[in-house]
Amino acid sequence: MLDVIDLGYPEATCHLPLLNAECTVRCFTVGETTSLRTSNTFGVTLINNINETIYNCIQQKPDDLFDDYNKFRKVLPTKDRDALLYSILEASDELKQVIPMTCPNCSNTQELEVNLQDCFDAVLYDGEPGGILNEEEVYTFETPKVIINVTLKVPTLDRERRVLMAVKNIQAVDPLLLSSLYTIHKINFVDKRDNKDLGTIDANNFESLQIFLRRLKLKQLKDIDNHYVETLGRYGLSLKFSYVCNRCNQVNNDIPLDLIQFFFQAIV
Ligand SMILES: [Zn+2]
Repeated sequence: MLDVIDLGYPEATCHLPLLNAECTVRCFTVGETTSLRTSNTFGVTLINNINETIYNCIQQKPDDLFDDYNKFRKVLPTKDRDALLYSILEASDELKQVIPMTCPNCSNTQELEVNLQDCFDAVLYDGEPGGILNEEEVYTFETPKVIINVTLKVPTLDRERRVLMAVKNIQAVDPLLLSSLYTIHKINFVDKRDNKDLGTIDANNFESLQIFLRRLKLKQLKDIDNHYVETLGRYGLSLKFSYVCNRCNQVNNDIPLDLIQFFFQAIV
């Protein structure tokens, strides 16, 4: 029975930057990372497997926020998953990574040895624990005939799952459109002539949402996204690093690293 003896795993403390709560995580086991990295799954199935594996690594949970996997999916902002993964890598002694980088100037790809600790930064939500889930940001703009109020919220794992299930052929979707689908909670229309409420598109009405977003000007969609990035989107962990290209010598500053995408080769 020695193959199942309790080894005790190294742990790390994780502060969830958006939920404003603490938990402890254990390291990944070889079995966990290999099965995720070599799985033939993609899209929503892969993301579900990643979420479950990360959840299983949590040793001490903030019980008043989530005490089972279903609740975890409902309340965990996607950006807090990055923080969990970072702490799991810390517990796994894997903060040093080799990252293939493609130079934006000359397209040369080189491998960079990076210590994630050196490029770590975080903006913390300082409201009450879990309060971020009730935060809404309204962005208003006008067309010649209509006033449009876009309500934005922080996306959770559940929201991400719904989007991934609703959008077919995710790689063909414009990244800006995709990120808007994650963050838009509802869109309300008001007639400019008489201030009459013309109705609301709900976040889960993916068909109407996509049709409407595709009808916008690119600048309008960018402005919605920028508003999110500058407000609710500023919270969370960010990993950015700078390096000099070994072919054209260009200094590439503040290159962001998407930890989930990098570590699991997942398209989210
Ligand atoms: Zn270059």
